[in-house]
Amino acid sequence: MDTTCDVVVIGMGPGGEYLAGQLAQAGLEVVGIEANLVGGECPYWGCVPTKMMIRADKALAEGRRIPELAGSSEVHADWAPVARRIRDEATDNWNDQVAVDRFVGQGGRFVRGHATLRDAATVIVGDDTYSARRAIVVAAGERAAIPPIAGLAQTPFWTNREAVETTEVPQSLLILGGGAIGVELAQVFARFGSRVTIVEGAQRIVAAEEPEAAQILTKVLQAEGIEVRTGEFASAVRHDGQQFAVTVGGTELTGQRLLVATGRRSNADEVGLAALGVELNHGYPPVDEHMQILPGVYAIGDIAGKGAFTHMAMYQAAVCERAILGQDGPGVDYSAVSRVTFTDPELGSVGMTEQQAREAGLSVATGSVSVPSTSRGWIDKVGNEGIIKVVADADRRVLVGATSMGPTGGEVLSYLALAVRAQVPIATMKNMIYAYPTIWRGIENAIHDTGL
Ligand SMILES: Cc1cc2nc3c(=O)[nH]c(=O)nc-3n(C[C@H](O)[C@H](O)[C@H](O)COP(=O)(O)OP(=O)(O)OC[C@H]3O[C@@H](n4cnc5c(N)ncnc54)[C@H](O)[C@@H]3O)c2cc1C
Repeated sequence: MDTTCDVVVIGMGPGGEYLAGQLAQAGLEVVGIEANLVGGECPYWGCVPTKMMIRADKALAEGRRIPELAGSSEVHADWAPVARRIRDEATDNWNDQVAVDRFVGQGGRFVRGHATLRDAATVIVGDDTYSARRAIVVAAGERAAIPPIAGLAQTPFWTNREAVETTEVPQSLLILGGGAIGVELAQVFARFGSRVTIVEGAQRIVAAEEPEAAQILTKVLQAEGIEVRTGEFASAVRHDGQQFAVTVGGTELTGQRLLVATGRRSNADEVGLAALGVELNHGYPPVDEHMQILPGVYAIGDIAGKGAFTHMAMYQAAVCERAILGQDGPGVDYSAVSRVTFTDPELGSVGMTEQQAREAGLSVATGSVSVPSTSRGWIDKVGNEGIIKVVADADRRVLVGATSMGPTGGEVLSYLALAVRAQVPIATMKNMIYAYPTIWRGIENAIHDTGL
């Protein structure tokens, strides 16, 4: 069957679903194609269920903090309510009918299937062809990257998907990778009683973040009983039907489950972008500031390689929407990309790290304050670990990056994100009244600490 429409969207994750719905509501004939579930990784195996897990582990941690503040407590962790909530409230037991109906209700046409590009105006799904008059948008996301470790592929290892779907907490869990996904899930399962070991090849966990933040997080995780091994690589994996054995250097680590959290890999290779002569860079297509790869072909979301975040996918979708509708508007601006690792403490950051700013040749000044040393941190007493660090361009006297780590690090980040994005003069930030005793009041100390 041949169908002609205005726009074809390949992949209905947060980016594709939002864009396809918006364009359909604007009156275009839109075909949205999804191989798996409408909504993508975020609601079914990513952000939403993992943050439900984290909400639960933070409740346990707060309960365990009662003896230091308010009497006595006995906390019995039970995974059943978490698994139930993920099924009932987050994923509808991994059923996307509500999302499909919503898109159809917006006027879109939904197709379930695996799409590949035939040329810059045609997409194939099985025996069917979809031709686009105006645009094709590739929003096919990423998948878990599985490293080529001897024996690994033959074992029943977990990715984030099995970790989210589990109805039981493993007695012991080995995690390959100490990035955002690895550390978030390490803390979740440890707080629910699992003996957790993280193996990270880089010299520190959350290696893309400020070293000070990585150091604080390492200490917190270790204090909670998690073994953190950095600068080490797994070289072989075995599974004997009962447990995993992972060779790391000269030692063999064992665990009931093995979670592979060693990064994500672009799905661009599976969409057929090569057929259009597009050269991929580390798996990602080149996009212009309106997310266009070629005239009439766009890429948004994780597959565009500018940051694997739901907020990034939706931001790019809005830019792409304007371009397809022929509306004026700014192109993308990545000068203030925010990101949060939802451990306890939360690790939020925006813009450049100190190292990135130095590598960019800026005249760098930094300032920081430890959260326990702030009035609010001292009052809170337990669960108060963290740091606020700012990175300034001393020549322009504005912030180019910041880290906000603490009990509400992701929320405190909002002020810093605006400061970086709007290039608020440091003089203005110094001449402000910061509410006492909030954690964000610590920003004032960090700003003064720059000496600017
Ligand atoms: C464990 C975990 C936790 C996360 N937590 C957060 C968080 O807290 N905050 C945050 O901002 N981000 C988080 N993320 C990242 C977030 O999930 C992604 O950035 C987001 O889902 C990207 O959206 P997307 O639309 O680009 O792609 P995806 O969500 O990956 O969706 C792409 C869709 O395309 C479909 N598809 C692929 N190929 C084809 C094809 N050829 N034909 C048809 N369909 C196809 C896929 O089935 C998929 O449904 C997390 C990710 C993981 C794995």
